[in-house]
Amino acid sequence: MNIDVDVVVVGGGPVGTTALALCGRAGLTAIAFEKDAELWPTARAVHFDGETMRTLQGLGVATRFQEVTIPMRDVAIVNEAGEVLVHAPTDRIGEQGWNDHISFHQPDIEYLLREVVAQTPGIELRCGVKVTDVADADGGVVVTTVDGDGTVGTTRARWAIVADGARSEIRHALGIESDKYGEDMQWLVVDGRLVDAPGYEPDMIQFGRHTRPALWLRLPGDRVRMEFMLMPDDDPAEIVTPAAVERISRGALPADKFTPDRQAIYTFRGRIAQKWRQGNIFLAGDAAHQAPPLFGQGLCAGIRDVANLVWKLDLVARGVADPSLLDTYESERKPHATFWVETAANQAVIIQTTDPNVAHGRDEYIRANPGASAVPEPPALGPGLHTGEDSGGGRLGPQPILADGTRLDDMVGAHFLVAADHSVYDGLSGPLRRALDEDPDTVTLLDPAKISWLLETIGSRAAVLRPDHYILGVAETAAELERLLLLIPSLSTTVDLAAESR
Ligand SMILES: Cc1cc2nc3c(=O)[nH]c(=O)nc-3n(C[C@H](O)[C@H](O)[C@H](O)COP(=O)(O)OP(=O)(O)OC[C@H]3O[C@@H](n4cnc5c(N)ncnc54)[C@H](O)[C@@H]3O)c2cc1C
Repeated sequence: MNIDVDVVVVGGGPVGTTALALCGRAGLTAIAFEKDAELWPTARAVHFDGETMRTLQGLGVATRFQEVTIPMRDVAIVNEAGEVLVHAPTDRIGEQGWNDHISFHQPDIEYLLREVVAQTPGIELRCGVKVTDVADADGGVVVTTVDGDGTVGTTRARWAIVADGARSEIRHALGIESDKYGEDMQWLVVDGRLVDAPGYEPDMIQFGRHTRPALWLRLPGDRVRMEFMLMPDDDPAEIVTPAAVERISRGALPADKFTPDRQAIYTFRGRIAQKWRQGNIFLAGDAAHQAPPLFGQGLCAGIRDVANLVWKLDLVARGVADPSLLDTYESERKPHATFWVETAANQAVIIQTTDPNVAHGRDEYIRANPGASAVPEPPALGPGLHTGEDSGGGRLGPQPILADGTRLDDMVGAHFLVAADHSVYDGLSGPLRRALDEDPDTVTLLDPAKISWLLETIGSRAAVLRPDHYILGVAETAAELERLLLLIPSLSTTVDLAAESR
């Protein structure tokens, strides 16, 4: 098939725009189609983790983004009676080289991402253009669009990334069903500015009020967010009035001091699409998974999807990797996303219970085990291009901040990183070391000032990290490192050639 671009992205939401920007950084040509002519001005996501900041760092916007965010300093769980069951500090630079928990106003990040797209050659975001069909055909995809004046267009590409959100018409058209996790719950989400009123003290509070579970979040500037579970006897017209918001916030959002940006009722769902790939079409973001926002992981997971996928598309597009590498997108990402959806759905049952007896038991349990309510450790990837969790692969690698303040990713870029102690590296064969030196897809670092903390944190004498910062594997000996290096697609071919020429 003659192609117009390497990749078509369906949807210019935060996941689609990140996918587009990552394609541009990789040198892939791409177009994203967004049906809305203007950027959606209100927030849904309000929280990011350090891993997401690393993806933004790779796009060159993390520092600018940081200016419009605030670190989440502390989190609390407060029960019906106002007792503080847990109050934990969260204001620290974590292993990712950024704050572990960051609060923001979603349109700010979308503007920045759109700026990146506008400045990057080879990629384009076309707004006001709806995708009506994505067909897998002839080794590629044919994408049909209609713009605002009814003009129908066709774009041919090698691959499509479908990031058209939770309702994903394209996923439905492809006949891909989703599995349900937990119960669907309706919540009122209230965003706005709070001036001359104290609000609540911790930056984030889960209110385990069985009469109405709620959430409080302090955002940059004078913005705050509260979310309230809808109860069976709520009047939908009354519950969104300023007086009702003052009442159900228990006075935290007084009608004369709180100016809402918007109040909207959302259905919080847990869903995982049964298939994430159909031929050359990949689902990403909410089109592939939706999590109840208990851990603020929905958008983080969507950005993780495209960070996982785009470097693989790049290697295959350049002929460096076999197309079967693309099978690892679903096998790696689906179990990881499922972990967050399932865990959020399970914990929501307890933290957001409306049963006073369950709430009483929960409070007793949390008093006795305050750590049990902490955000869980992220899981390893599912099986794919890594050695597996038991042998040190598949987990997210850390990012050192060097003595001069440089973050390591800025030195490595979107490459594989080989970090090794000399005692391991020096035992590699000559051809392999030469191949490593010459390989444009790999950066090798041996300087202890740069890598000691990284290797100590991972717990090995050598490690290989992938372009998405996940650990390909670890090694204690030259022979182990050699086996690991041969998993890097570019090296496996070069080293074979080197061996043949000996
Ligand atoms: C109240 C609430 C709070 C949340 N809080 C958090 C949080 O704190 N942290 C977090 O990580 N996540 C959070 N989430 C989840 C997060 O908002 C979503 O995961 C994220 O917005 C998904 O991004 P997306 O780009 O996949 O989809 P969307 O943001 O839905 O974007 C999809 C885009 O595709 C476009 N589109 C749809 N169909 C077509 C078509 N046929 N052609 C062209 N364009 C199309 C749409 O117009 C839209 O712009 C929250 C969600 C809610 C509802």
